Amino acid sequence: MSSVDRWYTPDKVYDSHCHFFGYSFFNRIAKQRGFNSPEELVKNWQFRGGKIELPPKDPRELTEMWVREAEKYNVDKIVLLPEFNELNDLRVAIREYPNRFIPFLSIDPTQPEAKEILEKGISEIGVKGVKLYPPLHYFHAYEERVKPIYEIAQDHNLLVTFHFGVSVGSTADMRFMNPTDLSPVALEFPKVRFALAHFGTGYFRELLFLMYHYKNIYAETSSSNVWMKYLPYELSLKDVFRKVIDAAGVDHVIFGTDSSFFPRGWRRAIFDWQLAVANELRLTQEEINLIFYKNLERILNL
Ligand SMILES: [Zn+2]
Repeated sequence: MSSVDRWYTPDKVYDSHCHFFGYSFFNRIAKQRGFNSPEELVKNWQFRGGKIELPPKDPRELTEMWVREAEKYNVDKIVLLPEFNELNDLRVAIREYPNRFIPFLSIDPTQPEAKEILEKGISEIGVKGVKLYPPLHYFHAYEERVKPIYEIAQDHNLLVTFHFGVSVGSTADMRFMNPTDLSPVALEFPKVRFALAHFGTGYFRELLFLMYHYKNIYAETSSSNVWMKYLPYELSLKDVFRKVIDAAGVDHVIFGTDSSFFPRGWRRAIFDWQLAVANELRLTQEEINLIFYKNLERILNL
């Protein structure tokens, strides 16, 4: 860091990617992996980020845990991503802390109730965005059955966050990982903004091409971006930031952490790393503000 003689920190921090995994999430994963209970799952879970604590059954308590993290690290707003097709825990969090949390839904569009859940989330909770995960739910982003989700996103100015690319999910299918699936969708829905989580999670070249072609494609920075290790060439986080900024400008980069579980809590190390990279690239105060909160604020009309 010795090359940096000026050091900027953002005036505010909005985290665009934080999971809100309540008890129901652990219940589902336990069943899926053949455990008798969420308690048994947690005991056996080999998680890269260390130990995992089972969340309290009452979503109000889980909400308080995230509020304490936000206060501890001065995070102004946090996007909450609940369990797929689930809005009850989110409803509680937003009712208690409407200014701290930004409600998103995780939707599996292959399920018949997907559209209805999203509409309900918008009318009842004020949902601002939706996350889709093609490699886990086995669909291509351009399929007809996903279009109702984009139509709703267009009508309600939702940000659509995609997880393409490699995945922590053990059942992920690589046929659905390629972000170029989004190309005809970006053309057909030019008003909808699409964010690619974790810089496309390994499909970095495809992300750059998409950003170059379409003004409605955004790079979302969250997670440790471990995919960089599995490329056949060396790539640093600094290279990644520089290239997305070259492709579409600093107003197309959205900060996130991919925080998920306790006791790890909010991932301060991710924030520190990305801020260091931004300073190493000699971004200005205003450019750093754009990445760490203003882009999300503008896109979602916060
Ligand atoms: Zn995530």
